[in-house]
Amino acid sequence: STYIVGLSGGIGSGKTTVANLFAAKGIELVDADIVAREVVEPNTPGLNAIAQHFGAEVLNPNGELNRQALRDRVFNNESERLWLNKLLHPLIRKTMLEQVHSAQSDYVILVVPLLFENGLDSLVNTTLVVDISPALQRKRSATRDNTSQKAIQKIMDSQMSREQRLTKAEHIIDNQGDIASLNQQVDNLHQYFLAQARRQQ
Ligand code: ATP
Repeated sequence: STYIVGLSGGIGSGKTTVANLFAAKGIELVDADIVAREVVEPNTPGLNAIAQHFGAEVLNPNGELNRQALRDRVFNNESERLWLNKLLHPLIRKTMLEQVHSAQSDYVILVVPLLFENGLDSLVNTTLVVDISPALQRKRSATRDNTSQKAIQKIMDSQMSREQRLTKAEHIIDNQGDIASLNQQVDNLHQYFLAQARRQQ
């Protein structure tokens, strides 16, 4: 079976940057955010179930999911929110595992922002957390896109604290330095994961 590395970290920590460094070494990525969109594409069981349950008002005229309309329907409605999570979480989990198992590389990186929060660390062989200080998280997130400090803080508050995440992590990348330092750490981890994956085969 495929050796799976779960990659996580808070907003702006550098998950995408790190994942791309592994991808450059030929390691295939499975990204939870992408899978979460794929399971509600038009003509999927996921979107069909949502349209059946909430009605056509959560669809755009072109048949795609109207995310804002769906958000409005589950906002302040605990039972509808639970219904939606109960539909989507197993679908996302199943699709991520299908993608992992069809991968051809020596091991796979599963990128999941809420790896520990959503209990998805139970699906992986090891966990890797990208770590930076909250101050640097705010700085880099703001530089990358025009998200307000208020919106960034709200996302940070919805995620696990830095301390909790570091306690759960099996491997940690310190991304407070430059890209050269990041590269060096990824090189070392890549060798380690390759060895682990080969041992498991
Ligand atoms: P999100 O959870 O918000 O999607 P992320 O964890 O995927 O974020 P990235 O998008 O990889 O984080 O990085 C956030 C920003 O910080 C990007 O603009 C990226 O280019 C920059 N960045 C990442 N690592 C470094 C570094 N070592 N030095 C300087 N800038 C960096």
